[in-house]
Amino acid sequence: MVNAYFRPKSAEEAATLLASEKDAVLLAGGTYLLTSQFAKKPMAAIAISGLLPAAIERHGERVIIGAGATFQALAEAPGMPKALRDAALAMADRNIRNRATVGGNIGADKSCASLVPFFLVAEARYSRVGALALGAAEWQALPAAERGIAAAVEFAAPTARRFAYERYARTSCDVAVLTCAASAEFETAGGGLAARGLRIAMGGLSPHARRFPELERLFEGAALPGKAAIEAAAAPLFSPVSDARGSAEFKRARAAALLADVLAALANPEANETPEARP
Ligand SMILES: Cc1cc2nc3c(=O)[nH]c(=O)nc-3n(C[C@H](O)[C@H](O)[C@H](O)COP(=O)(O)OP(=O)(O)OC[C@H]3O[C@@H](n4cnc5c(N)ncnc54)[C@H](O)[C@@H]3O)c2cc1C
Repeated sequence: MVNAYFRPKSAEEAATLLASEKDAVLLAGGTYLLTSQFAKKPMAAIAISGLLPAAIERHGERVIIGAGATFQALAEAPGMPKALRDAALAMADRNIRNRATVGGNIGADKSCASLVPFFLVAEARYSRVGALALGAAEWQALPAAERGIAAAVEFAAPTARRFAYERYARTSCDVAVLTCAASAEFETAGGGLAARGLRIAMGGLSPHARRFPELERLFEGAALPGKAAIEAAAAPLFSPVSDARGSAEFKRARAAALLADVLAALANPEANETPEARP
C-alpha cells in the first residue's frame, strides 16, 4: 500500500529521501513492488525512473550497465556475454522485461532473481549514489535498508573467461524454480581442458541466490567430468526447502541436473559465446 509518493529531481535527492523517510522504497519499474504481495505493506514510494544511468556499454573487457536499464534493453544490447543475455531473457514475459530494471532486480534480490547469479559469478561491483561501490555478494550481505541506491553494475569479461547460464521453470512462461550461472577459464592439462577460477552461483536453493564454493572446489583445476558424475557429486550438497515450487527432493535432483547442463555448456565455448560478444 503506497501511503506516500515522492518524485525527486535527482538521484542524490532520492538517496536523501531513502535515508530519511519511514518505510521508504525505490519505485523503479514497479514490477516487484506493485504486486499483490505488498498490497498491505506500508510504503513511501520514491520514484527513480529516469534518474539513474540506463546505458549498457562495453569498453574492451569492462562491461558497465546502468541500474536504470531494462531487461529488454539488456537482452538487445550488442557485445554482451551470451550468458547475460540468456539471464535477461530468462524473464519470459516481454511486457515485464520492458519495465523491470537491473537495479530493481538486485534491489529485490529474490531467491530466483534472474540476473543475480550472473553478477555473482562475474564478481560484479555495484556503484551507488553517494556511497562507495560494493561487490555483488557484499551488497547481498547488507540489510536492504543500508544498501542505498545502486547506480550501475560493472564487471570484467576477459576473452579467456567463459560464462554460462540456465534456469529451470515449470513452464516456459513461469518464473524460475532454479537458476544457475557459472564462469571459468580453461587450460590444457593432462590431455584435457581443466577449469581454472571456477565460479558457480545458483538461485532457488536459499533465500537469495549465492555462490557455492563447495561446488567450485569439487570441480576446480580438473577436466570437468560427464553430466552423470557432476549430478552425483553435487546433489548431496544442496539443502533446498519444500514449497509450492517443488519438494526438497525434487529440487535437489533438478538443481544437480541444471548444474550439469551449465557446466557442460561452459566446457563448450561455441555453446555459450557468440563472436559479436567478443571485445
Ligand atoms: C509477471 C512477473 C514476472 C516476473 N518474472 C521475473 C523473472 O523471471 N525473474 C526475476 O528476477 N524477477 C521476475 N519478476 C520480479 C521483478 O520483475 C524483478 O525483480 C525486477 O527486476 C524488478 O525490477 P523493477 O525495476 O520493476 O523494481 P521495483 O519493483 O521498482 O523495485 C524492486 C525492489 O528493488 C529496490 N530497488 C529498485 N531500484 C533500485 C536501485 N537502483 N537500487 C537499489 N534498490 C532498488 C526497490 O526498493 C524494491 O525493493 C517478475 C515479476 C512479475 C510481475
